Amino acid sequence: MARYTGPVCKLCRREGVKLFLKGDRCMSPKCAIERNNTRPGQHGSARQRKISGYGQQLREKQKVRRTYGVLEHQFYLEFERAARRPGKTSDNFLQILETRLDNIIYRFGFADSRAQARQLVTHGHFAVNGRKTDIPSALVKAGDVITVRDHSKGTEYFKTRALMLAQKAVPRWLSLDIANLSGRVIALPTRQDIEVPFNEALVVEYYQR
Ligand code: SF4
Repeated sequence: MARYTGPVCKLCRREGVKLFLKGDRCMSPKCAIERNNTRPGQHGSARQRKISGYGQQLREKQKVRRTYGVLEHQFYLEFERAARRPGKTSDNFLQILETRLDNIIYRFGFADSRAQARQLVTHGHFAVNGRKTDIPSALVKAGDVITVRDHSKGTEYFKTRALMLAQKAVPRWLSLDIANLSGRVIALPTRQDIEVPFNEALVVEYYQR
């Protein structure tokens, strides 16, 4: 299945919340949710019918999936992986999504959005523990070191990015070395470390129904 290439603000309007898919624009008054928070389509502003239990689970699943920019099948595979791990499936699931390489690049601030991070990864700009890694879904582990590869450090993009990184805060489970354009995963994130407003239990219910 092809990746969604339509207008991403439409996805936020469908869910009725900000999914932060467009970098700095999401923080500005230009955000479509700030300007017109109605569902897309001809009847978007009509009163919404009461949503069923299944509908709530589906909407929550879509919210999480669209936020992390993962395709349907891959998302389900990540869920299955989470269910096989010991512990709470919902916590495992969010931890897996957070430790995807594209998300880590976004969290370090090397990209403004996860979509941009994914593109940078596939273009081969990063190495994990010294090895070139161009797979956005690769999972990082505690202790892994992610670096911008030497040949990319000299590019205009990363020179400008290095100047911007000082203003960005990284989550406490990551540490960033701006001078060397590299970062380390100090520990795997717990649910408390992951500041996303999801009810992930509904996603688990959706897949286990
Ligand atoms: Fe969503 Fe960002 Fe568009 Fe606002 S600007 S609607 S948060 S993608």
